[in-house]
Amino acid sequence: MSVPEIPGRPGSEGSGTDREVMILGSGPAGLTAAIYTARADLRPLVLEGEPSSTSDQPGGQLMLTTEVENYPGFVDGVMGPELMTSFRAQAARFGAEIKTEKATRVDLTGTPIGVWTGDPAAAEPTYTTRSLIVATGARSLMLGVPGEARLLGHGVSTCATCDGFFFRNQPIAVVGGGDSALEEAIFLSKFASSVLVIHRRKELRASKIMQDRAMSNPKISFLWDSVVTEVLGEDKLTGVRVRDVITGATSEVALDGCFVAIGHAPNTSLFAGQLDTDENGYLVTRDGTHTNIPGVFACGDVQDHVYRQAVTAAGSGCMAALDVERHLESLGEG
Ligand code: NAP
Repeated sequence: MSVPEIPGRPGSEGSGTDREVMILGSGPAGLTAAIYTARADLRPLVLEGEPSSTSDQPGGQLMLTTEVENYPGFVDGVMGPELMTSFRAQAARFGAEIKTEKATRVDLTGTPIGVWTGDPAAAEPTYTTRSLIVATGARSLMLGVPGEARLLGHGVSTCATCDGFFFRNQPIAVVGGGDSALEEAIFLSKFASSVLVIHRRKELRASKIMQDRAMSNPKISFLWDSVVTEVLGEDKLTGVRVRDVITGATSEVALDGCFVAIGHAPNTSLFAGQLDTDENGYLVTRDGTHTNIPGVFACGDVQDHVYRQAVTAAGSGCMAALDVERHLESLGEG
């Protein structure tokens, strides 16, 4: 899915490769931080990431979502990609510079901070910055079973919005029991002939409202206490092998598509050995959005495995921007 180019205000570009604030990531957290720092005249540079077929892409996880009904201000809901396009346009309107690039290395050991794009082995960083907001979000988890990686894009998918259309009148499955799984199942029921939700327990983790909707959808059925042990098919998915975790019995389910919706992991490998993480790998923040390194702040899903909502990510992006302002002021540069 491509994000429309929205140019910044003419003449409002930041100052080349030496910046006051850079933002890594362009989901609700990163772009809210961009709106606030741009309005504070800090001329933020946002590295929004690069297009991909997973949630690791410009706009982040909401680019792979359908309708968002719980983002305040939208009485009738809003499509995830439309919401992120508006965030981006709003940041650009205030002069945020947005580049479709990915950071490949960061050096947080001194001031200024170094940020590389392209070759991470290059001697000099591509950009330097006095402060950094990390908003790199989280990515979809995969099952890690035989056949899954090989058939990704050939029947295995992590994105109902992207791929649902291809499964018109075909039987498909969704793996997982959270809100994402049920949201995908409900969306996919518009295309598929049937949607089987395969969940490893008997209780769903999803919210009551999503459970009610899925359960009352005539195309959606559930396979409880079951895990997928193999994705079947040579060049194209033909089914999955499942194991009943109570009885140990295995069986094959014939399918044309299998959507994996089992949660997410934070995108933190770039900061390994530099920023503190918790036992789940999420960045640790204290006193608002401060990390263990002065001048480096983190917001959104990369540091939040509890709430993980677009609105909480946006809220923490605002906090990071205000923390950056105070930090730069304390250095006498704000
Ligand atoms: P989640 O809530 O962490 O749910 C992940 C689901 O996948 C769980 O049911 C889990 O099973 C299952 N699972 C995890 N690893 C598995 C594995 N290896 N094999 C099989 N099953 C596995 O993740 P999410 O659904 O992506 O939601 C993340 C957050 O976003 C939540 O806070 C959610 O409320 C929010 N969200 C909200 C909406 C909405 O409001 N419309 C939509 C999407 C997401 P267990 O239950 O047994 O742990």
